Amino acid sequence: MLRSVSSDGTSGSSERNAPASMARGARAMKMKSQATQVKTDAPASSSAGGKKRVYLLSEGNKDMKMVLGGKGANLCEMTKLTLPVPPAFIITTETCLEYFKEGTGDLPAALDYEFALKAIEEDTGKKFGDPLNPLLVSVRSGAPASMPGMMDTVLNLGLNDEIVEGIIKTTGNERFAYDTYRRFLNMYSDVVMDLDKEPFEEVITSIKKRKGIKLDLEMEAADWKEVVGEFKKLNPNVPSDPREQLRGAILAVFRSWNNDRAIRYRSYNNIPDEWGTAVSVQAMAYGNMNDGCGTGVAFSRNPSTGENKFFGEFLPNAAGEDVVAGIRTPQPLEEMATKWPGVYEELYKYQEQLEKYYCDMQDIEFTVENGRLYMLQCRNGKRTAKAAVKIAVDMVKEGALTEAEALLRIPANQMDFFLHPTLDPTAQKTKIGVGLPASPGAATGKIVFTPDDAEVMANMGEEVILVRKETTPEDIHGMKSAEGVLTALGGMTSHAAVVARGMGKCCVSGCTAAEVNAKSKVLKLGDVELKEHDVITIDGSTGEVYLGTVERRSAAEDEDFQTVLGWADKMRKLKVLTNADTPEQAAQARKLGAQGIGLCRSEHMFFEPERISSMRAMIVAEGKEERLQHLETLSVFQREDISGILKEMDGLPVTVRLLDPPLHEFLPHSPDEMQSLADTLGKPFSVVKDRVKQLKEVNPMLGFRGCRLSVVYPEITDMQARAVARAAAANKKAGLDPKPEIMVPVVSSAKELRLIVPRIVAAVKEELDKAGVDVKIPIGTMLELPRACETADQIVGTDDVEFISFGTNDLTQTVWGFSRDDAIRFIGRYQEQGLLDFDPFARIDEEGVGGLINMAIEKARTKQPETKVGICGEHGGEPNSVQFFHSSNFDYVSCSPFRVPIARISAGQAAAVEVSAQNKLYRESITNVKRAPK
Ligand code: PEP
Ligand code: MG
Repeated sequence: MLRSVSSDGTSGSSERNAPASMARGARAMKMKSQATQVKTDAPASSSAGGKKRVYLLSEGNKDMKMVLGGKGANLCEMTKLTLPVPPAFIITTETCLEYFKEGTGDLPAALDYEFALKAIEEDTGKKFGDPLNPLLVSVRSGAPASMPGMMDTVLNLGLNDEIVEGIIKTTGNERFAYDTYRRFLNMYSDVVMDLDKEPFEEVITSIKKRKGIKLDLEMEAADWKEVVGEFKKLNPNVPSDPREQLRGAILAVFRSWNNDRAIRYRSYNNIPDEWGTAVSVQAMAYGNMNDGCGTGVAFSRNPSTGENKFFGEFLPNAAGEDVVAGIRTPQPLEEMATKWPGVYEELYKYQEQLEKYYCDMQDIEFTVENGRLYMLQCRNGKRTAKAAVKIAVDMVKEGALTEAEALLRIPANQMDFFLHPTLDPTAQKTKIGVGLPASPGAATGKIVFTPDDAEVMANMGEEVILVRKETTPEDIHGMKSAEGVLTALGGMTSHAAVVARGMGKCCVSGCTAAEVNAKSKVLKLGDVELKEHDVITIDGSTGEVYLGTVERRSAAEDEDFQTVLGWADKMRKLKVLTNADTPEQAAQARKLGAQGIGLCRSEHMFFEPERISSMRAMIVAEGKEERLQHLETLSVFQREDISGILKEMDGLPVTVRLLDPPLHEFLPHSPDEMQSLADTLGKPFSVVKDRVKQLKEVNPMLGFRGCRLSVVYPEITDMQARAVARAAAANKKAGLDPKPEIMVPVVSSAKELRLIVPRIVAAVKEELDKAGVDVKIPIGTMLELPRACETADQIVGTDDVEFISFGTNDLTQTVWGFSRDDAIRFIGRYQEQGLLDFDPFARIDEEGVGGLINMAIEKARTKQPETKVGICGEHGGEPNSVQFFHSSNFDYVSCSPFRVPIARISAGQAAAVEVSAQNKLYRESITNVKRAPK
């Protein structure tokens, strides 16, 4: 006998009663629910081989993300909290891995979910595959880490020709029945059977055209019925057996773990490929039945600004996918408060409850079925950098989080938002459109219309704005490459908005006046017609779109951001220095909190046009005498620059590195340029040409560079050491407190240092004595070759060597044997094929390079415990790498000026992890004491 739910919530038991729950939709699907029906004695078939593969919502909790995926674990938790969650079961991530491992293309033989399906049937009083009282389900992916929109979902599963007739009979709502059926056929064909979506869309478009209508809402029952007929012609092979459908959909969700966009997303977000996705199978709640239904997305605080105000959007008479797809622009949640005050109040209560419970801003998906609210998902919400900072600061003020906990919520790698400009309010600008302020910040760039174009142009060094009607997960690489994203459709929770916010990228969505023609590559905004590569500026904080370039300025002064930096500074043990080569960069970095300069690449002072000729003259000099002459000129430039830098960094260390690049890099290469150099120097063309030829190297990065130049041309090193000493003396005499240091690059043995360091000491001493000032100028070296690491004890044991700084750019190059200039050609492929989890030039390879670093530090500190240890490669500003440097007991990291705040936060977080862990241990110890037996 079939069961159903009657209006008083008791179960009925007649076929006549059976469909009532669907027909009188105001009544809830019955959720006496798995919370009260714990099936701890799940049949053996669900756990064959000792493994439990299927969980009911009553069997899991929020801490089971690795097993049940984030979505599944939170559904379990909401069920525990007695929120109205449609009954469901979750197939574990491990089962997904089992599927890939078995490789049969079919579900793992040991997977059995029949008992769980039955539990849903009992809870809802509906039956899967029963035309008179059908249970329809959604089949969704859910990885341990949120991967929004990257994997597949099939909704409304369990329909066929007979069942659709049953729904019509029982609901009396033919339009709803066919709308639901066409959605299912479309999704199943696309997701499970991998058919092209386009012809399906064309069917709907052509009917709308014929009828002269634009919106889905204007489609009538007969229209959807016609659509269903056409869809069945396009794909007659959708299985009619609901159980076969379910099997197909679960397989499709498993497969989607390894689709291109999911793989790409994982690689951008450092999510391991080995995790797999869980699959949730859940009773459908319908937002598309009639005007008393709807669906929406809500956030417990504003995910764009961080404002502590319940925020969201809903679409009446629509299914969840309509909101996310951005095909209709949704209404703000406030309107729901007027339309359905009871539902709004209930939702408001739940979001408050969930935020308090999870201690974090919540992103909630819900559906309203005939006035009844269903919670479909909750998770910690993605937010902009600005919102992350505001929420963290507010939650500390509210007493919900400690500073250490709040600091750990900050996505350090997105903090460059605060360093990148917002529009200067006083700038001249021509507004050409306005959309929704989907993700803040401002961006200027040439417009492109496809994600591929965005990627190609960005690789060529161009700044671009990706303009789309709406974005889909396939656009992700283009969004990543673009400076900003502009879409014509979609609300604040559309794909474009959510993904851009996650990337910390500026985005204007729902600019409805924009006519985007990707084929002809034209964007029309009112009277303005723009072609590909025309320049626009978008402001993701206001939603405004401007013609051409608009002046921008930094948001670094943001008060909340400063508060977060303050927390980090209080906690961190690592000092944060910067890599700067000019007084301007030094000043900029100091403003951003740099505690000195860890790397001043002295060669950069010689690249300016008026200086490069002296440098070239020095290089092509015929003999030492002539070289010394030109070195004297260079010495003046060098001293002036270093002096300016010391002034900006007064009282803080400034580490000047001796000349590093191969000399060949300074020389001209074309015959014309060589001729012109010869003319300037008054030398025959052949002299210049021969010297260029002589210095040319097959593999310059492993060639005549770094300290090898000091070995062959000690006079260059003398000049540089003197320039540093003279600059220091001048500053000292001016009453300042200069703290220069000199660093020798590309060292491979202590013997090189034994030759070079005494010369530096002598030159410095002579200059300081001459000037009659006393300035301490420590000397150190870079560890950027494996041999230097292996012999770090000998290196720090060299007289007068006081510090070591790891050059992780060269060290990565030499440890991996990957050319730092060329590896980009294959690193992407390595990542795609799982040979590399990340680019080792961007993030430190802890296993290989890191292992060598740790060994070197141990050797160095055993020999000379006082040796100062730093890092000045690009990794110095990368959050994961900073964590590593913290745990390896570095004294400082040095990174480019704009990454200084990111490094400060990352270093603070590295320390905060320990504080939190200590707090946890402390809390546990107190708890244990209390619990100790008397
Ligand atoms: C390094 O190799 O990490 C380094 C900082 O030096 P450069 O990048 O100038 O070679
Ligand atoms: Mg180097």
